[in-house]
Amino acid sequence: MNTYTIGIDLGGTNIKAGLYNAEFAPVRELSIPTEAANGPAHVLERIRLAVSMLTVDNGISLQEIACMGMGVPGLLDPKEGLSIFSPNFPGWEQVHVVNEMKQHYCFPVFIDNDVRVNLYGEWLHGAGRDCSNLVLLTLGTGLGSGIVHDGKVLYGTTFSAGEIGHMNMFRQGRPCRCGSSGCLGRYVSAVGMVNTFKEKLAAGRESIIQEWTGGAEEVITAKMISEAYDLADPLAVEVMHETGELLGFGLANVINLLNPERIIIGGGMAAAGDRLLQSVRETVSAHALKLSGGSCDIVQAELGSRAGTLGAAAYAQQRFGSEIVNKTI
Ligand SMILES: [Zn+2]
Repeated sequence: MNTYTIGIDLGGTNIKAGLYNAEFAPVRELSIPTEAANGPAHVLERIRLAVSMLTVDNGISLQEIACMGMGVPGLLDPKEGLSIFSPNFPGWEQVHVVNEMKQHYCFPVFIDNDVRVNLYGEWLHGAGRDCSNLVLLTLGTGLGSGIVHDGKVLYGTTFSAGEIGHMNMFRQGRPCRCGSSGCLGRYVSAVGMVNTFKEKLAAGRESIIQEWTGGAEEVITAKMISEAYDLADPLAVEVMHETGELLGFGLANVINLLNPERIIIGGGMAAAGDRLLQSVRETVSAHALKLSGGSCDIVQAELGSRAGTLGAAAYAQQRFGSEIVNKTI
């Protein structure tokens, strides 16, 4: 009987993989190096190795797998199962991931954007359970988002909906690799917050972090800013508040546009918690439309490091389920 679902979270450094039972409880989860420098064929082989380690090595046959989902970074076409381009994977262009996997497995395989599989995870099994309108932010090295609107995940014409990180906040701001400048993600992200901190140091401000690093600015991290905030370091407090305030203005736009019931903050920088979210909530409360802002909760994600694999598995189950329904009709 097909009782298990597999989720793969394909990252530039590691492939995370999870095997989940019918109730989506983890049976086994693991992580192996991606070895992306060796090219697409090698990466696909590494994914198959992870699947074997989850199943055969665990006494579970491939016939017991209902379906598999994969979160893949970069541009892709989820309907065709085609990964068009992924910036952190050398030589990775027009890789037909689903067709490649079909040659090896009897169960269906589905791919989607890495942020969107996180959205499926939090929506179906995490902080967004029972919500029909929600936005998930992944706040890490960069800033991404996924949207559920009136019970449906938004994709857009080129499957690019939800690029909140490229919302323009300043006409003449920091340059962005998208070709524009002043994009929200250039400020509200681990890299962005550290850059704000460094700009203030360059302007002559002082911080306890300079003592920790011996003045070496290149080793400053977002986590250090969080730790300095806890010691009431004035510069760290100011940078955290400014970052939260800017995110609050961005989310006020999102709330006015989409009227979500909940905004979920995930990703590594979500660990800053209320240090960041207090300013976010205050800014939203002051600037979003009163009815929309007042009916939207801003909360932390629940699934943590499991979000990618569990989300990919949940996504696959939903795609697989809708295919069965469509065939029946
Ligand atoms: Zn941009």
